Amino acid sequence: MPNYTYLDLFKRRAKLFSQTKNLKLSVAQEQLARESGFTDFHELQTVSKRSPGDPRLAKAGLGVTEPGDILYEQKVYAAVEQEIEEALAGEIAETNASNFTLENLEVLESNYCQRSGVGTVRFSGDYIGEQDSDRIYHDHSFPVHAEIRARKSNDQWALSDDEGFEIQGICVDCETVMNVSTVLDDSGEPTARHICDRCLEHSESYGTCALCSEVFELKDLKPIPGGQLACSEHIDDFYLDPEEEEGWEGNIERGNDL
Ligand SMILES: [Zn+2]
Ligand SMILES: [Zn+2]
Repeated sequence: MPNYTYLDLFKRRAKLFSQTKNLKLSVAQEQLARESGFTDFHELQTVSKRSPGDPRLAKAGLGVTEPGDILYEQKVYAAVEQEIEEALAGEIAETNASNFTLENLEVLESNYCQRSGVGTVRFSGDYIGEQDSDRIYHDHSFPVHAEIRARKSNDQWALSDDEGFEIQGICVDCETVMNVSTVLDDSGEPTARHICDRCLEHSESYGTCALCSEVFELKDLKPIPGGQLACSEHIDDFYLDPEEEEGWEGNIERGNDL
């Protein structure tokens, strides 16, 4: 049965280290234990039994100071940049910027599960492009909020094959991730933009179709009787063709006669 405790990870690290550096296993164990703040490997083993919450153990096993640092491991970081580029490809195409990079990264929450061997990091940041000054100004920065799941193999952290990356909707106005809806474009396809319920209520840029309850830019919505709005797909449901409309009015009149 695979085991992913800090001690197990440490033993695997030490084994790989001894092979790559051509050291005796015991020498590798002593050296790595000292680098993690223990006097020797024996102390590391004792601590893992008596006080498994000791932060030095996490460092010894994970190879990083805290689980949040997994995000900055080479393979993970490269994969995250690629995932974000793909997720925002449509939005980036509409800007006049290029060479986007991930900046202002902040780890919001992280943990490592010693039963599954999965490190989870939730983070926020800005995906910022260099703007072409010859062209009209457009947005060239997108707030990003995402969660990654990573596993260690051959002493390297990498995104898990299974749900390794998930970008989370972030409100365009207040930047919350709570109760957000995806903004759809005029053909009903999802964009990378989201807005929270609270900001939507008094938004001057976004609104909801009264029929499908999906969120659109106001320019993609049309007024319908009763002061509400409808998307281009549903507007037809309101404005019936003249023949149908006649029948409709007839029904109302008859209704009034009753
Ligand atoms: Zn909001
Ligand atoms: Zn609709």
